[in-house]
Formats: sequence, structure tokens, C-alpha cells
Amino acid sequence: MESKAFGELKPSGRLRMFNEETRLREEKKALEERRIKLLLDQHRADCKAQTGDPFWQEISKWEKVTQGDFLSHKWQVANAVYELQNIVKFLDSVLPPKVPGPRISTQPTTWISKRDFIDDVEKGMLQTTMAVKLTPYILSRINWKDPVADPIRVQFLPLRSAMSLDHPMVELDSLHERNDMPVPGLVHRYPDRVLFLATHICPLFCRFCTRAYAIGPRTEWFMRQAEAEAMKDNSATGSKRWAAMYDYIEKTPAVNDVVVSGGDAYMLASKQIKSIGESLLSIPHVKRIRFATKGLSVGPMRFLDPDDDWTNNLLGLNNLAREVGKEVYVHTHFNHPNEISWITQQAMRRLHRKGLRVRNQAVMLKDVNNSVPVMSDLIRKLSDIHIDPYYVYIPDMTPAIEDLRVPLHEFIAIEKAIIGSIGGFKMPKFVVDAPGGGGKRPAMSYESYDRTTGISTWTAPGAMPEGKKDKVFTYYDPLWLQRTPPQTNL
Ligand code: SF4
Repeated sequence: MESKAFGELKPSGRLRMFNEETRLREEKKALEERRIKLLLDQHRADCKAQTGDPFWQEISKWEKVTQGDFLSHKWQVANAVYELQNIVKFLDSVLPPKVPGPRISTQPTTWISKRDFIDDVEKGMLQTTMAVKLTPYILSRINWKDPVADPIRVQFLPLRSAMSLDHPMVELDSLHERNDMPVPGLVHRYPDRVLFLATHICPLFCRFCTRAYAIGPRTEWFMRQAEAEAMKDNSATGSKRWAAMYDYIEKTPAVNDVVVSGGDAYMLASKQIKSIGESLLSIPHVKRIRFATKGLSVGPMRFLDPDDDWTNNLLGLNNLAREVGKEVYVHTHFNHPNEISWITQQAMRRLHRKGLRVRNQAVMLKDVNNSVPVMSDLIRKLSDIHIDPYYVYIPDMTPAIEDLRVPLHEFIAIEKAIIGSIGGFKMPKFVVDAPGGGGKRPAMSYESYDRTTGISTWTAPGAMPEGKKDKVFTYYDPLWLQRTPPQTNL
């Protein structure tokens, strides 16, 4: 049609139209260039600014803490809150006289006193396998006017009144990691990759940790369990152990991928992360290393702190890996959008600019992120700050977290509802880490699932050792489901 129109024009009209088209093209190009320049200027200004809402000053104890101090990794470490008396003192200083109690649908909100809430926490701490330790950053992300419902509080600070009877099949080492350790501290479950447990400490401790058998100090719960006395097997880390772990990897050419975890790689000293990274990259058949850290979600300032070499060393390893044709990644752990702040954004801007890839492994937890809106929001917000949503796990069957577990059908329903609404490459895989060591299985790939009994079965043809190929692994929905009518949070 266009050429016909051209054909009907006189030569002078054709020239005018040509000139007009050229002018419009040039204007469009100039507009695009102006826009790109504006974006670049804006981005550079944002990166430089490093300022934002001083949200920590909402907490009276830290109302005079400057941004400089709050962003210092040293300050965060020095002001972490742990041990019962300090937690009680902190709660006493931060809570209003009354807070909303547990929500029961259709009933009006009841209020509980500050004292009742603190008593509930004290009793909860006697029942948990994981010690309570909290960073100032994460304490500042909790809404202390409504702590019972706060999704961050739920993950780290137990309330006795919310906890329920353990499922009889829970185990401290529910994934049987210790059965798959050819040398202490190194889990070899999949043919080509190993888990290098470099430390047994974390910046804070999650109630639902899969490695409850090893991570953090022993709790009251352990003291009461005669058979667990020998557990909290956290002697399996430290530089002497690392030598045997390197040796095993060196002698196992099938291993090309190493996850450095623990505990949390964030807790390694700067020189330790450098030395572990260099030792592993120097092994010819190791092609990639993943450093597992919750640090980005609970202490992102370490990724910005100019007085701390940890991040520089991590970035140095990434550069070295690229030079020699290998890969370094960070695997992190965000469960709720409220964990993301302007500090996280600044930290991720730095890593993204320097070319370090970050992936997220979330856990779906009841009353934290077991809904389509919250999980979708988390996935989108992570994507926007250049974190690739990689996995969402159903909680492992460890003790004292029954109140946090979600049933498989709910887990799958949420995955189904989100698939398609988000680009496939940003859609995390929803997985069940098969109890007993079957490894990660896509949630929809169960062999059988009885919604009434809550029992699902799984096979793991790719897991190691060979003997597991014919084994059937079983996952159990939480017991609270049997006592309450099925309901959905979708
Ligand atoms: S950060 Fe990871 S290893 Fe540490 S307590 Fe939490 S889940 Fe466990």
C-alpha cells in the first residue's frame, strides 16, 4: 500500500516525504539517546546516594544510630541480640503496652499485653532446636506494633502458643545428610556436585533450618533430649577439616560444582572466603562454586562496607573465575518482601554492576509467604533487584516447626497459580527435598499423594549412592491439617 501511495506522488512530493521521514527518525533517535543518558545519570546518582529511610530509628534503642554506624558490618555484629535475658530486654524496650493477639478469622482482634507476649517468647525458646540470635537489621524490619502477625518475627522468634505437636516422623537430620558424607563436613549426594560445610554458624538462626543437627549453639530442647546429647554435630567444620574435604574433591573428577555453605559463608573471615574460593577454583575439574549466604537478606550492609574485605574478596573470586573460564555465584535466602530494603537494593546494585550472579532459595512457610500475592510479590521484587528466583522449598520435617509447615497440595496450588503470570526464566522451581536423602524433587513429580492422610511418596533416580535408585522416600503433611478443616490462603 505504501509503495502505491509513493508511486502516485510527484517527484517533489516524494522528496518532501523522504525528508520528513528522515527528520522523524533522527528526532526519535535523539529522544532515545536523551532517555538513555537520563537513565544512566539517574542510576549513577542512585548508586552514589546510598541514603534512604533510616527505618532502624523507629526502635528507641537505635533512634540516634547514624546511617554510617548502621551500615557498618562491625556495628551490626557488635549489636546482634542473643541469649534469653538480652532478647527479653530488647522486647521490653521495643513493644507497646498491648499488641494484637493471634488472628482467628471472622472474630474481632483480641489484644495481649507486652508481658504475655514476652512470656510466650520465653516459653517458645525452651521448645526450639535453633538458638535465637537476631541482627539489628532484621530486628528493624519487624513491625513491633503487631509482632504476632509479622512474617519476619514468625521465622526467627518462636511463640509457644503457636507451636504444635511434632509429626512422629520428624528427624533432626531429616535429609540424612550425615549418611552422605564421605568425609566429615562434605555432603556428596548428587553425582557431579558436593556441599562443602565450611562453618556451623550464621548471622542469625532460622527456626526451620534443615541443618538443625549442626547449626548454632545447643538449645534447651537439646538438653532435654537424651538421645540428642551427642548431636549439634558442629565439630565438622574448621580449616583442619577443609583439607580432607579438598582432598576428596580433588580425587573425585566427577565433581564439577561445589556449594560452600554451613552455616553461612557470610560468617567466614575475609581471608577464609578467599582461600576456600582459590583452593576450589584451582582444582581443574571444579567448574563452578556457589557461596550460600543469607547475609543479603539479614545483613546486606556487609556487601557495601568499605572497611570490610569480605565482599571485595568474593568479587575478586568472581573475576578470577571468569578469567579462567569458571563460574562463581551467590545463593541467598529471602522468604518475604519485607526483608528487602533500600540497603538490599544498594548491595545488589554493587554486585550486579560487578557481574556477580545471585540466586534465591526461599522456603514456603505458613503465615509468612504461603499465599499467591506474597509469593508473587517476593519473586517480582527479587527479580527487580537482579536476584534470580531459583527454588522454593516445602519445609523439611525437622522438630519444633510443625506450625510453619504447609501441606503439599497447598504448595502445589500456589505454584500452579503463579506459573504463567511471571516469565519462565524468573519462575522458581517448587521442590520437595525428599526426607531421608532423596534430594530435591519437583513438587508436582510425586509418585503418589493421599490428601486425606497427607502422605506423599517420591523416587530419586538421579541421587547418589546407587542404592537410592530403587528407594521410595516419603513426605508427610503437617499434623495440624488433620485437626483443622482444610482451608486455603490463596
Ligand atoms: S541461614 Fe541457612 S544455615 Fe543458617 S540457620 Fe538459616 S537456614 Fe540454617
